[in-house]
Amino acid sequence: MGTELHHFVNGAEVAGKSGRFGDVFDPATGMVTKRVPFATTEEINSAVEAAAAAFPAWSAQPPLRRARVMFRFLELLERDKDAFAAMLTSEHGKVFSDAKGEVQRGSEIVEFATGIPQLLKGEYTEEVGTGVDSYSVRQPLGVVAGITPFNFPAMVPMWMFPIALACGNTFILKPSEKDPSLPLMIAKLLKEAGLPDGVFNVVNGDKVAVDALLAHQAIQAISFVGSTPVAEYVYTRGTATGKRVQALGGAKNHLVVMPDADLDQTVDALIGSAYGSAGERCMAISVAVAVGDKVADELIKRLMVKIETLKLSGGMEPGAEMGPLVTGAHLEKVRGYLDIGVAEGAKLLADGRGRKVDGNGFFLGPCLFDQVTPGMRIYREEIFGPVLAVVRVPDFNAALQLVNEHEFGNGTSIFTRDGDSARAFATGVKVGMVGINIPIPVPMAFHSFGGWKRSLFGDHYVHGPEGVRFYTRLKTITARWPAGIRQGADFHMPVLG
Ligand code: NAD
Repeated sequence: MGTELHHFVNGAEVAGKSGRFGDVFDPATGMVTKRVPFATTEEINSAVEAAAAAFPAWSAQPPLRRARVMFRFLELLERDKDAFAAMLTSEHGKVFSDAKGEVQRGSEIVEFATGIPQLLKGEYTEEVGTGVDSYSVRQPLGVVAGITPFNFPAMVPMWMFPIALACGNTFILKPSEKDPSLPLMIAKLLKEAGLPDGVFNVVNGDKVAVDALLAHQAIQAISFVGSTPVAEYVYTRGTATGKRVQALGGAKNHLVVMPDADLDQTVDALIGSAYGSAGERCMAISVAVAVGDKVADELIKRLMVKIETLKLSGGMEPGAEMGPLVTGAHLEKVRGYLDIGVAEGAKLLADGRGRKVDGNGFFLGPCLFDQVTPGMRIYREEIFGPVLAVVRVPDFNAALQLVNEHEFGNGTSIFTRDGDSARAFATGVKVGMVGINIPIPVPMAFHSFGGWKRSLFGDHYVHGPEGVRFYTRLKTITARWPAGIRQGADFHMPVLG
């Protein structure tokens, strides 16, 4: 049955009361290792109460003191990074080196948040009118919540809470029920770093917990990352109850290969970005757009060579390149898309179902489709597995149009040696994050992350300067100070006028 996990509320672990649980698997073995409690509305409400009670004192701390907690947290993350990465591999399945990279990218947001005294500085104008000055400040919102997906159980929460907390908010995290241990480890580390009780809380759960967060009047803002249908639901429900919402959704990321691209570089980029983390990344490349048949044929030839030698194994094994998918249910869904693609007329050149790994892990080898066209479901829908589709187009304009007409707009990339093509692509493409000879253009911590179209609902991107704006409200103060004590003592009877 596995170890029973808890919630973390008001500085302590709390056992779940609902009697409802979800199974947590080790994807490399297919075994259930833990069970995670699903919170009731009452359990969510008590976490919100704890966070609301902690808010006045935490928000009144000077930003420098809040930054110091983040500094200590950063040091503890450095101390525990291997344990974090190993836990991540054991619940998500991604290979250990990739898991370490995830923890590193998350830590970089904590680093960014340590600069919060600088980031919260407002603006000041002297003499906006005679004797009148005006200044602006950014103040925290109050209790805010984060709802996160399975594919980055460390990094995506860290896109949110370091900045939210450093700005002076208190936080409730509802992590993915598929790999919930990391957020609990984070909560304990934040406490060890000196974060006061109630400032950061983790409540595990499913739709019941999400709906309770959406409905709660005391919650001021929600950051959501997950699939597009749920993102849209969270955005619609959350904004309807007056909350500020940023909801990041799904993706279908295209990599355009121009005829002048360095094909060795391009193939390496495609292998890493399509099959790394078993394709379970919102910035994974799932469509290679080959400009011209000659490029397509050569690309496929070279991809097939690399696909054959790609090492599929449990994530902790030395030299592992691609691990299992997260759950058996997700594996079945991805396998289903292979049948759909074949039925739609695409050519399945590499069928990962043929790659066997000992045991009952949720493994699927790298898959490659050729002759994919825009009308097919395997082109339109997010598969979120190790499945790369090659679409052939005649020229640059057709490639750009293809990318722009897709409903998702998270990331995209162009591989070319031509600055003019690269520039025209970066200017004209309707996608939030663009790579030029970079396959996965995830912005660094001090920039902001987010897509366009149905990949993001809301006005603010996550982390970087946009994160600070999302987690604060702007206030502008205009002040006049009438003449007073500076004039010296008055000895005459005061009269009006
Ligand atoms: P998901 O949408 O199934 O789950 C995300 C969160 O929503 C989880 O905490 C889950 O418990 C909750 N949830 C699930 N169904 C719900 C429902 N019906 N009502 C209310 N809450 C619900 O996503 P996932 O499978 O965990 O993650 C993969 C998805 O996340 C992919 O679509 C991927 O593209 C997306 N993603 C996007 C980004 C981005 O930055 N745009 C980043 C990472 C992942």
